[in-house]
Amino acid sequence: MPAARSSNSVDVVIVGAGFAGMYMLHRLRGLGMSARVFEAGSGVGGTWYWNRYPGARCDVESMQYSYSFSPELQQEWRWSELFASQPEILRYANHVADRLDLRRDIQFDTRVTEARFDRATYRWDIRTDCGDRVSARYCVMATGCLSTARLPDYPGMDRFGGKTYHTGHWPHEGVDFTGQRVGVIGTGSSAIQAIPVIAQQAAQLTVFQRTPNFSIPSRNGPMTEAYADGWKSDYTALREKARHMRTGILNNPNDVSALEVTDKERQRIFEERWAAGGTNFMAAFNDLILDRRANDSAAEFVRDRIRETVRNQAVAELLAPKNHPIGTKRICVDTDYYGTYNRENVTLVDVRTTPITEITPNGVRAGDVEYRFDAIVFATGFDAMTGALLKIDIEADGQSLRDKWEAGPRTYLGLMTAGFPNMFMITGPGSPSVLSNMMVSIEQHVDWIADCVAYLRSHGLDCIEATQSAEDAWVEHGNEVANRTLYPLANSWYMGVNIPGKPQVFMPYIGGVGAYRDTCDDIAADGYRGFALTAQAAALAAE
Ligand code: NAP
Repeated sequence: MPAARSSNSVDVVIVGAGFAGMYMLHRLRGLGMSARVFEAGSGVGGTWYWNRYPGARCDVESMQYSYSFSPELQQEWRWSELFASQPEILRYANHVADRLDLRRDIQFDTRVTEARFDRATYRWDIRTDCGDRVSARYCVMATGCLSTARLPDYPGMDRFGGKTYHTGHWPHEGVDFTGQRVGVIGTGSSAIQAIPVIAQQAAQLTVFQRTPNFSIPSRNGPMTEAYADGWKSDYTALREKARHMRTGILNNPNDVSALEVTDKERQRIFEERWAAGGTNFMAAFNDLILDRRANDSAAEFVRDRIRETVRNQAVAELLAPKNHPIGTKRICVDTDYYGTYNRENVTLVDVRTTPITEITPNGVRAGDVEYRFDAIVFATGFDAMTGALLKIDIEADGQSLRDKWEAGPRTYLGLMTAGFPNMFMITGPGSPSVLSNMMVSIEQHVDWIADCVAYLRSHGLDCIEATQSAEDAWVEHGNEVANRTLYPLANSWYMGVNIPGKPQVFMPYIGGVGAYRDTCDDIAADGYRGFALTAQAAALAAE
């Protein structure tokens, strides 16, 4: 633990040094503002710092999952694969930190524990687990959407004699499973990437599946110079196009209903998207996420591919999702996931029919069977979107954020929440965030926030707060848009269902990255409509 630095005062405290916090720091420096970043990890990179499990890689193409704000950066960096692996993305994050000399304003190994707004001074009082106490005019939460790992609460969790791992807290030195009996609990995106790699190492791999997921092959491969140059020669225009796409990804959406074409044509288009690989599969038609019959056609196509790939048809049926529309739980992207179940050393256990009842000193008990392991991997996900924010004791005017969000997160644009002045969230609940290319959404939020504080400064103002009415209207709009889609039909982490007792509301904004950006820009151009802007002196005089 580093020694606490002395109490001090900055313009902005940023919580988190992932891609959001790093770019926020860079923009604020550009405005001549002082900023201090606190980061719980020992290095930059956020998600890519923590999630080091075997097979971890991004499922947005590298040419699009990278910063666009600096022409030099995006021209000089060379990605080795179409979809970069975690180590390469982490190298990229470190390269950016070096290149922009970010580390001198980042305090690592330090977790922010409290943030309290003092209306008498219009400043945030921020405290850390290292004893720091910093006063800041603004506080920016760059805490990530999937940064609070979640373990199940089976009896006996602490009794297992072997090693346990969570995918989101993987040891930095790596894990060699060679010759081991390994159990993996969970079959979400992380497990679907890890399982094929662990299966190649382990003597025996047992996968405990509660809910099967739809996964599309990534068709990952080496990045050719020609492909990279194609992007780099037209980067400015292509990035601009991506910013206005529904998902922030240039993914060649087909603006046709799946129900308007013949069966043969529909099949052809699905085949084409499947062969191309990746999440673009869901852009095959414009109504896959809106219309159950359209969705069923895509779901059945993928189920058929699973049946085709997995030799044991009983296992194939277990792996074929039947209870949620495709895409309403995060679509997964894999390298040989389904094919892995053809291996002699891989077993699938359906915990819906044989529930896990306890973790024993030797392994996992499910139904009547005790499975014996050397290692157990928990790929059991995260307290998504609100977990990292609510872990911090955030309070303003005697109200805690935990109390305010007791029935689910409420924000205006996912950028601010009423009653908590001068506190911004990057990719907060109520913004497209996890439904988008995070890099695009991060840059959009950081730019909006930086422009906003610059506007306040140039207008002699220093306080901004979302109004209650603007927030209420935004929450209502978000729910209304979500309810037009099939998303609420799934028991997903988007809805908070994976955390016992968590309120079940659809947290991200599904109106699309392009439309959302236009709304944010329009609100700013209109003098920050829906926000109350004040100057501290005037506000204090009025009290
Ligand atoms: P996740 O999608 O929440 O998956 C967790 C898995 O664990 C689910 O299969 C879940 O089953 C299972 N599970 C949880 N508790 C369990 C229990 N008590 N017993 C048995 N099974 C249990 O978490 P994740 O895989 O870490 O992925 C989270 C998100 O991170 C993804 O959706 C994606 O947005 C992001 N991610 C992205 C990438 C990428 O870009 N390539 C890679 C990894 C993750 P249920 O479904 O039944 O709850």
